[in-house]
Parts: sequence; structure tokens; C-alpha cells
Amino acid sequence: MKDVIVLGAGPAGMVAALRAGDLGARTTLVTRDDFGGMAANDGPVPVRTLAHAARLMREARQLDRYGIECSQPNLDYARLLERVREVVQDVRAHSAFRQQLEAAGVTIHERAGTARFVDPHTIETEHGLRLRADTIILCGGGVSRRLSIPGFECTATHSDAWNLKEVPPSMLVVGGGATGAQVASVFNAFGTKVQLFETGTRILKTEDEDVSTAVAAAYRGAGIVVRESFGAIESFEKTSDGVRMFFTKDGRRDSAEASVVVVAVGWVADAAGLCLASAGVTTDSRGYVQVDANLRTSSPHIFAAGDITGRLMLVPEAIQDGFVAATNAVLGLSTTRSEQASPIGSFTDPEYAQVGLTEAKARERGEVTVATINFDSTTRTIIDGRTTGFCKLIVDRETHKVLGCHIVGERAVEIAQLASIVIAAEMRVDNLARVPLSFPTYAGVLGRLAASATRQLNLEANWRANQSEL
Ligand SMILES: Cc1cc2nc3c(=O)[nH]c(=O)nc-3n(C[C@H](O)[C@H](O)[C@H](O)COP(=O)(O)OP(=O)(O)OC[C@H]3O[C@@H](n4cnc5c(N)ncnc54)[C@H](O)[C@@H]3O)c2cc1C
Repeated sequence: MKDVIVLGAGPAGMVAALRAGDLGARTTLVTRDDFGGMAANDGPVPVRTLAHAARLMREARQLDRYGIECSQPNLDYARLLERVREVVQDVRAHSAFRQQLEAAGVTIHERAGTARFVDPHTIETEHGLRLRADTIILCGGGVSRRLSIPGFECTATHSDAWNLKEVPPSMLVVGGGATGAQVASVFNAFGTKVQLFETGTRILKTEDEDVSTAVAAAYRGAGIVVRESFGAIESFEKTSDGVRMFFTKDGRRDSAEASVVVVAVGWVADAAGLCLASAGVTTDSRGYVQVDANLRTSSPHIFAAGDITGRLMLVPEAIQDGFVAATNAVLGLSTTRSEQASPIGSFTDPEYAQVGLTEAKARERGEVTVATINFDSTTRTIIDGRTTGFCKLIVDRETHKVLGCHIVGERAVEIAQLASIVIAAEMRVDNLARVPLSFPTYAGVLGRLAASATRQLNLEANWRANQSEL
């Protein structure tokens, strides 16, 4: 029987260990701290709980518009953090994975401390656990990127939000990617005066340009100061009641100050403590563990999965990686990852989401038809008083297949799920137009866009059948 060690119990590690156990390998799952990894303990679950609180505050402010009298909402941050901890524990306690892993005979070592390679087949953890295996799968995830800038130690990461005693009066968020945009949105809703700094020309630079523009405009409308192309950071320094950031642009020095500075400028592999050299595992120029299409590292008996490999850093990707790596580790090199488009989105205000190609990328590849609808002209958004945003569908003019969908506004992330099924099924837009989606719903907007694209393309009159919107 093959021995497999899986390092790290985030989504990649849990699935890798389960798959290896199911395939009959004697499997051990070792993780530094709590079961569930970043995903359950320090990423999506706690952040989504804060985002839900932000949503409740927004909705409470809307009550008056619907004739419901109520006093203004008032946030008790300490109680919110209690709720965050409760949710994290609840998610962990109810994780179906633990039961499945135990049933599959996987040995779990939780809170074992950081593990490192002693030799290519042996690992040892900080707490003295020493294990040897034929095959090892690295699923250690990633950590926030640190900048080599004077005074960087005065700054915080998204995780430090859990340690704040109260909502800070002001905050600089450095980095306009998904994490920075999420932190900015949540704390703005809680009443913090937020300034969002992005070195590039636009926030959310991996999104469709229309999405970046709409989210930046909505943020500005909500009182967030969005500073794109702000220049380069020189240093940070502590002040009597916060932190000051110095930066330069076009030779001119400037500064900004707030009670807290959160830096969210990317993610690096959590590989520093692993002593990868002892196992002959190499990393790429960005410090991520290098893998081939089978998720095998430079050391043939060692595989890697999830954020540690530096590809699309999302829970569903980590899960897919874990399955592929464990299958190859136990059965031999037999499978690779599927290249299906993944929906990506964030629970900001307004929400945004995407799946497939951006309009710019789709136009580079060929002729496209684009159908867009603004949320001030869709029934459900008007009913709910959530008229900020739009949905855009990109269709290949030749094949009539949906290539991409980009959404800003209420339930954007949920709409993207339906669009991702359409793209995965390689559905033609006129077939989508024929599906009678429920009225009045958020997802129903896709039916209306499909009908509009079908008309633009002069296809069969399928659009007529679409009853999903007025
Ligand atoms: C703020 C934030 C919000 C996010 N929101 C979303 C979202 O909404 N949707 C989404 O899909 N993704 C989201 N992500 C990304 C998601 O959390 C990651 O893609 C996912 O957790 C990666 O899973 P993983 O298994 O590769 O690693 P992780 O979940 O990071 O787990 C790795 C585990 O390995 C442990 N470990 C590391 N090194 C060692 C070692 N040497 N020895 C022992 N153990 C070790 C770590 O302590 C950790 O527990 C978010 C991330 C952040 C930071």
C-alpha cells in the first residue's frame, strides 16, 4: 500500500487527502493550525461574514424607503467579531470533509506547527511530529505579500481586521485587487473613512474595464476616495494616532494618513518554512512551487496543489487541484486539470463578478456581439431598489456561443454562476434565449440579454419565447 502525506488542510489538502484515501493509499494529513485552512479560518468565510454585516447595514438604511420606520443601525464591532468567530467555528464543526476523511481512514494531525522537509521523503513539524512517505502532496496555500519598504511593519493585512477592537475612524487600503476592494467596501459600510490606493491605472485590473469603471464610480459615490495611478510608495511611519504613507508621483512627494493602513498587494506561496531545497523542489520566479500539467513538482514523488502553485487562487480551483494531484500521486500520471472558465466575484458594494473572456480579450480573438443591460431597467432590481450596475454578455459572432459575462450590482456573483454553466455547456446564445427563466429574478437578466444578442445576430426568432423579463 502506498503512503501519502498531504501538507496543509485547506480545500486543496482536504480533497487531496480524501482522494488519496479513497484510492486506498495510507494517507496522513498534517496542518500547521486549524483544519479548513485559509478558506475556512482567515479568508472567504470570515470576510463573507463581515460583508454580510455590511449588507445588513445597507438594507437597514433602506427600510425607510419601503415605509418601515426604524432607528439608524449602529454597529457593535466586538459583537460582530464574536459572530465571525461563531460562524468560523460552525463551518469548521460542520465540515463534511472531516467525517469523510475519517471514514476513508485518513490520519489527521491538526495544529502540528509548520512542517519542513528533513529529506525528500521525510517531514518534521515544529511540534516534533516526524513522518515518512513514498509520496508527498504540498497544499500549504499562500500568505499576504510583504513589501520591502521602510516602516512596512506599521501596516496591517486583511487578517488584522479580526484583531481590531473597534471600527477605525480612517483607513488607507493599498492595493485595488479583490482583497483590497473587499476590505475598502466593508469598512466604508461600517463608517470608516476609506482611501483606496492603486498603482495601476484602474482598480480590479483583471476584471473587464467596464466593471472596474463602474465599481470605482460606485465606490466614489459611496464616499470612498479611490486613487488610481497614485505613484510609488516610499515609506510608512507611525504617527501619534495612526500611520502615514509617503509616496511619489512624477517626482512629486505626497503623503496620506489614517488610523490603520491595510496592505493587500498580492499573495505569495507559504513555502518559506518548508525547506524545499532539502527535497529538490524548485519554485518559479515569483516564489510559487513549480508544477507541470500533472501537478508534479521538480521532485518526481512530490506534487503540489492549490494557492501554493500560484495559479487562479480560488477555493474551487484548489479543490480541483487537490483531486488531480492525489489521483496522479496514487495512480501514476493519469490526469490533468480541466481548463474550464471559472466564475470569479466579490461581495463588495456593489458586488461584481465575471466568467469567461473580458470584452477586450474576446475582441482580440475574433468578431463578437455584446449585449448589455443596466440595472436601472431590470424589473427585480427596481423592485429591490438596487439599480446600480449592469450585466454584459459577450457572444462569438461565428459560433453564437457565449464567451463571457460580466456583472456589477446586486447578486452579481450568483448571476455569474448561471453564466458559467452556460459557458461550460458551450450553449448557443439563441438556445439560452429559449430557456424560460423565472420572472422577476436576478438570473433572469441573462435571458433578456440572450434575447437581445439573438436579435442582434438575426438568429431564429427564439428570443420571442423568452418570458424572463418585461
Ligand atoms: C481575504 C480573502 C478572501 C477570499 N475570498 C475568496 C472567495 O470569496 N472565494 C474563493 O473561492 N476564494 C477566496 N479566497 C481565496 C481562497 O481562500 C484560497 O484560494 C484557498 O483557501 C486556497 O486553498 P489552499 O488549500 O490552497 O490553501 P489554504 O486554504 O491557504 O490552506 C493551506 C493550509 O496549509 C497550512 N500550511 C502552510 N504551510 C504549512 C506547513 N509548512 N506545514 C503545515 N501546514 C502548512 C496553512 O496554515 C493552511 O491552513 C480568499 C482569500 C482571501 C485572503
